[in-house]
Amino acid sequence: MNRFSRMAGGLADWLLYTPDGVCPICRRVLFFTDDWLCASCRSQLSHNSGETCVRCGASLRNGEDSVCVSCSGLDGSEMLSGGFIWLRYKSGCGAIVRRIKSGSAPQLGQICGREMGREMNAGGFIELTGPDVLIAAVPLHPDRLVERGYNQSRMLAQGIAETTGFELAPEDSFRRIRKTPHQAWLGRKERMSNIRGAFSAAPGVFSGRTVLIVDDVKTTGATLVSAAGAILSAGANKVYCACLTDAA
Ligand SMILES: [Zn+2]
Ligand SMILES: [Zn+2]
Repeated sequence: MNRFSRMAGGLADWLLYTPDGVCPICRRVLFFTDDWLCASCRSQLSHNSGETCVRCGASLRNGEDSVCVSCSGLDGSEMLSGGFIWLRYKSGCGAIVRRIKSGSAPQLGQICGREMGREMNAGGFIELTGPDVLIAAVPLHPDRLVERGYNQSRMLAQGIAETTGFELAPEDSFRRIRKTPHQAWLGRKERMSNIRGAFSAAPGVFSGRTVLIVDDVKTTGATLVSAAGAILSAGANKVYCACLTDAA
């Protein structure tokens, strides 16, 4: 991307975001050349890099061989054919996640999604090419959607669709059919049984497609695996995942 289109893109994002005109991480007032994030916070974001898990896309740590510890301990993780995780959960990333989930910054999720899509394009994200690719956001339960006013994962998915050119599945084609308690206090096994059977995907939409599931934060991976199961049951060929970050 040349300097001019990068600046023009940054300006467009800045105009789309800036509901309060401050950096979402450090809260410093933004200047228009800052993009949607100030230059200092941008330089401190830590991107996922190096060898990654062939299922979820998490960075592999010492001793892990092609599959991360989290996936190797999770029943059904082999349903994921690959994954992309954008940022490491440290420094400013936590502030971005809190902000996109706060209910006050729907556009911020979309802007992050665009950046994720650009990086997927640049990195040649696995075999995700062609018209059969379909993007689907992990849905919220309708009650939680009303509370927040928007689904932050759907906003990420919208941004990814814009910059990758992949089709975005209609919101009502992938639904959460069971209200699940918050997962934060549950262990790995409890999370999997808590989330199993929570999703329903429309066969007419997903049959024969290669699907990219989008979520904000990957913790144990239980949500992604349950979502992948529902989409494969609806006839999808393969399922991949993309998350803003992992291990909150
Ligand atoms: Zn900042
Ligand atoms: Zn993994």
